[in-house]
Amino acid sequence: MAQKFSAPRGTQDLLPQDSYKWRFLERRLMEIAEAYGYREIRIPTFEHTELFIRSVGESTDVVGKEMYTFEDKGGRSITLRPEGTAGTVRAAIEHGLLAGAMPLRLCYLLSCFRYEKPQAGRLREFHQFGVECFGAADAAADAELIHLAGNILSGVGVRDLSLEINSIGCPTCRKAYLEKLRAYFQSHYDELCDTCKGRLETNPLRILDCKSPVCKAICEGAPVIVDSLCDDCKEHFRRLQEYLTAMDMPFTVNPHIVRGLDYYTRTVFEFVSGQIGAQGTVCGGGRYDGLVEEMGGNPTPGLGFGMGLERLMLVLEAQGVELPAQPTCDVYLAGIGDAASRRAFLLAQELKEDGLHAQSDLCGRGLKAQMKYADKIGAKYAVVLGDEELQSGTANLKNMLTGETTQVPIDGIGAAVTDGIMDRMLDEMTDDVDKEALSKLFGGMMK
Ligand code: ATP
Ligand code: MG
Repeated sequence: MAQKFSAPRGTQDLLPQDSYKWRFLERRLMEIAEAYGYREIRIPTFEHTELFIRSVGESTDVVGKEMYTFEDKGGRSITLRPEGTAGTVRAAIEHGLLAGAMPLRLCYLLSCFRYEKPQAGRLREFHQFGVECFGAADAAADAELIHLAGNILSGVGVRDLSLEINSIGCPTCRKAYLEKLRAYFQSHYDELCDTCKGRLETNPLRILDCKSPVCKAICEGAPVIVDSLCDDCKEHFRRLQEYLTAMDMPFTVNPHIVRGLDYYTRTVFEFVSGQIGAQGTVCGGGRYDGLVEEMGGNPTPGLGFGMGLERLMLVLEAQGVELPAQPTCDVYLAGIGDAASRRAFLLAQELKEDGLHAQSDLCGRGLKAQMKYADKIGAKYAVVLGDEELQSGTANLKNMLTGETTQVPIDGIGAAVTDGIMDRMLDEMTDDVDKEALSKLFGGMMK
């Protein structure tokens, strides 16, 4: 036997029983973001390596250890995107989007690649929903962004995530803070992990993000940045908190959130779940006022977040949130004998042109096996066509759920199935007609 292959470590196949749930989720995320004025952007899967080094930052784990970098056949250094912000900012500058109406709001769904140790909620290829907002410096923009993330999470059915916020100041106030931090960690130098010993020189802020338990314990006693903020940063952070309170969004200030990427300024935030293990951050983001300029654009404030879709799925599963299952076959057309089988086949194609999910036999099976297949795929209706039916022009339409049959003209099968499906939907709708049922109904009518 030939050797079988398995997917590379840290990657996942998304099988049909799950892909529909993803599609539902992705549609919801986009719809909610659109209501906040976001429009989708699609960027390349790979970029010039330099782009990530400059934007994400050399001292970060992402750039230092996790990038999939290779030389292409033209000798260029190429990197598979580890996140979406850098490419989005590059595209916005390159295509002059920042010269248009402000704020500019862009969102995306994309795969990201990071060479990490695979575990629950941590993959080497993972998927993010992300948004970026440019041109708004006011704390109201931070508040709107966090409201969007919260609204998306509750909009897909997630409950009880905690919102943690922090301010990491601006380059001015951070300078003084970094000195305090460096002095503090210097006094614990021998206990720090090797990576953090290096970080002490390059960027001591990174130590606050270390996952090693010893470093984490040392961080507990570290000076907190909110005590070192300059007046402007302090006021920005105060106003953000005021907005969050006014929007009824409970939060905690967590001075240890610094985020993994270098480009953040002022606000940083995470939505965290306690239900999916160590990788509990479902959504993380913040403000990056210096990034656009750093990447060669005019000085433009910016902010955004990334939401890990695998982690979001884990939370939805942990909380038992049911996502809609893939709609099943509407009608199965069984055929007995050549002439009737041919008619069943052609009718199935016609019904599909009308938007119904219709199937007929493609495997030369007998009637019993065809009906078994119809049952297996969960067909809502089934019809058997034989010589007799062809002659009379009518057939028995079987409701596979109730077992009930009705005689219908062969030409009227499509209409009968559509009516039956609509009736069933109306029955399913209870007194408290909710939005979801209504949208299902309209979805069905559009068929
Ligand atoms: P973590 O601290 O968990 O490593 P991060 O700070 O590196 O996260 P970001 O770069 O902010 O993460 O990415 C945004 C979101 O993408 C994270 O909050 C998480 O939900 C998701 N994410 C990040 N890395 C991975 C990964 N390797 N596998 C799955 N999801 C991930
Ligand atoms: Mg990480």
